[in-house]
Amino acid sequence: MKVFNTLSGQKEEFLPQGDVVRMYVCGVTPYDDCHIGHAMSYIIFDVIKRYLQFRGYKVKYVQNITDIDDKIIDRANQLGISARELAEKFTDRYFADMDALSISRVDIYPRATEEIPKIIEIVQGLIDKGYAYPVQGSVYFRVRKVADYGKLSHRSLDSMMAGEGVLGGGEKESPMDFVLWKAAKPGEPSWESPWGQGRPGWHIECSAMSLKYLGNTLDIHGGGQDLVFPHHENEIAQSESFTGTKPFVKYWLHNGLVQLGEDKMSKSLGNLITVKEALGKYSADAIRIFILGSHYRSPLTYSEEGLEAAEKGADRLRQAVWTIVEGAKAERGVDVESYRSKFIEAMDDDFNTAQAVANLFDLARDINRLRDEGYTVIHGQQGLVELAGILGLTLKVPEEPPIDIESLQQLLLSINKWRLEADLKEIPIDEIPDDVEALMELITSTRSALRDKKQWQYADKIRERLVKLNIALEDTVRGIVWKRKR
Ligand SMILES: [Zn+2]
Repeated sequence: MKVFNTLSGQKEEFLPQGDVVRMYVCGVTPYDDCHIGHAMSYIIFDVIKRYLQFRGYKVKYVQNITDIDDKIIDRANQLGISARELAEKFTDRYFADMDALSISRVDIYPRATEEIPKIIEIVQGLIDKGYAYPVQGSVYFRVRKVADYGKLSHRSLDSMMAGEGVLGGGEKESPMDFVLWKAAKPGEPSWESPWGQGRPGWHIECSAMSLKYLGNTLDIHGGGQDLVFPHHENEIAQSESFTGTKPFVKYWLHNGLVQLGEDKMSKSLGNLITVKEALGKYSADAIRIFILGSHYRSPLTYSEEGLEAAEKGADRLRQAVWTIVEGAKAERGVDVESYRSKFIEAMDDDFNTAQAVANLFDLARDINRLRDEGYTVIHGQQGLVELAGILGLTLKVPEEPPIDIESLQQLLLSINKWRLEADLKEIPIDEIPDDVEALMELITSTRSALRDKKQWQYADKIRERLVKLNIALEDTVRGIVWKRKR
């Protein structure tokens, strides 16, 4: 099995330290709703975890929650609530979004605010070894002391310094030094430390949580490509300097970023699509197929057309799994083994999910063809369910949104008076039905009668009111039929 390692810049044979793969992925800063960029990263690492398990590894997967940060403090101040309250609210929403995307829970979700002792221990250790220095209640990392700084992002310290310009570093010894511990500002949440009241910097949190829960060397560290520098570069510098153990991480895996048109999808550009918005229009399976349909290291351009195509693809897979022919002929073998080995071949090659997804569509096409010829294809269907599961696809038929019966009853009552104009008798209140089918029968027949009497404006109003209740009317050869909208 080969994985592309950002550290070496090439595909390498995947050789974890032991039977348990130690995996860490940078988690969220819970100050707002998750967007498709989050979905992409966490879906990809969920699939990597599922695939490793399928290949026989145990996986210990840790994902942090950065529940104290400038962004959290600013947003909480705007809303007039505490930072803790805000972080808790959006942490809950993060879990709800991830569950809705069928992302399986990881083993440990440490929170920065609950790991302060470990963070202080590492910062103090770095000071003791000369890698860090306190200034006026803050502590900075001395980047110059790390000879191989820049090895992950493949840049030299001098080129980074040039990029920074000649601006001084304020209280820092050097402009490239980064903060490990921030002295408290008035009114901000803070913790006691040997350097006074303060709070941790972002980079040190990930070092502390990964070292604490996974040991000095991780097998896989993941995150978006935007985290390579400075975040992951700094994690390496902190962790290797503190433990004296190299490497901190054997395989660095980075996913490409989501774009909208030509632009990166980002909060600052205001072009975010939230997970909730996407799930309002498309099933979780469709979102996963869309994301997994290109290579995880490539940028992904979000498009409605792409997601609609993915939904159609998801429907084809569902149809292959859920349609069973009554009284079918004997089982006709779909060559599941050959599909399974092609799937493994694709995934073993740096998680080529695009190829793996294409392979599932081929298998579904075989199943659908044989079934249409009247054969049972249970073996093929079981194979498809298993392989789809490795990509986290449930193949469940999406639930239709519930229809609000009370609103339908109210609609029928309010159109009752129009029935007289169409020479129909009014429906007495005590005869208003309480099931959807009967209500829709009366509403659509009322509408037809109004149309027959050329009362178009009333007929149109009924259609509009039904749309608001997520019901669409469609003209078909069998007359008007109604459908729930997704
Ligand atoms: Zn991190």
